Amino acid sequence: MTFRRPLIIRPPSEWKSYFLPLTSGCSNNTCTFCGYFGSKLQIRESEEIRKEIDALAALVSYGLDIPGVQISPLDQWDGKRVFLQDGDALAYPFPKLKETLEYLNKKLPNLERIAAYATPQDILRRDVDELSILKKLKLGILYTGLESGSDELLQRVGKGLNSDHVIKATRKAKEAGILMSITVILGLGGVEGSEKHVEDTARVLSEIDPEYAGALTLTLVPGTPLHREWKEGNFHLISPFQSLEELKTIIERANFTNCFFSSMHASNYQAVRGRLPQEKEGVIEELEYVLAKRDPSSLRPEFSRGL
Ligand code: SF4
Repeated sequence: MTFRRPLIIRPPSEWKSYFLPLTSGCSNNTCTFCGYFGSKLQIRESEEIRKEIDALAALVSYGLDIPGVQISPLDQWDGKRVFLQDGDALAYPFPKLKETLEYLNKKLPNLERIAAYATPQDILRRDVDELSILKKLKLGILYTGLESGSDELLQRVGKGLNSDHVIKATRKAKEAGILMSITVILGLGGVEGSEKHVEDTARVLSEIDPEYAGALTLTLVPGTPLHREWKEGNFHLISPFQSLEELKTIIERANFTNCFFSSMHASNYQAVRGRLPQEKEGVIEELEYVLAKRDPSSLRPEFSRGL
């Protein structure tokens, strides 16, 4: 079966990366809010990946175009970072993943950091020694979705794990020296579940104490079960200003040692960022200002929100 090259869906901070697909879809395709819901995981042949790396290296080193090999757009690439696609590239079989990273390092000697999305299940499947090998091969950061600290909510949205799995997975990656960036989704509990979602999310984020944390705002994707629930009137979306209330409360309540927190993702109505706890006050003041004014025109307009 021909490998379908996935669309580029990336964390905001990976905009300077080269996007190298290892898989397409997500191995955990049951989250009712996610565009990958029901997707079929495709594992790309390593031979095909090597050809793409060869083509990229030929272009970088000699300016040569290799005909017949598709590569990702290079206009924003800094030549130093690679982001492995897709929804959880860490699901790629370990021996092949290791070989791919070795090949990347060999062909792109200026490479500084490799990144990927990973589910907590992917991380827990690997032992610390395996993760350490990947770290030595420059896998520097994994992006993982906690989504919510509420186990009840995680179960309701089909996440297939509880918050304890995320805590354990994060510890394992940290032990191997891999940075963790944890994502939470504002509005995931809807109107009725908002309070518990926020309370539990702040608590679990504090326990994880990641190096990076990011907030997304729930965007209903047509065709997903959550979108259907909303259409049927069984799920009530919070308002844009309520999403900022959630964001503010999470930042207020979470205790971090040294975490770069950001809501720069295009799904959010207001972008804030700062190092916590050092810049906590400033970030909260920024949100309080927007919340006090309640001016819809100060928010990111609906049409320019993205996934
Ligand atoms: S939210 Fe993450 S784990 Fe769930 S289906 Fe989407 S990509 Fe996969």
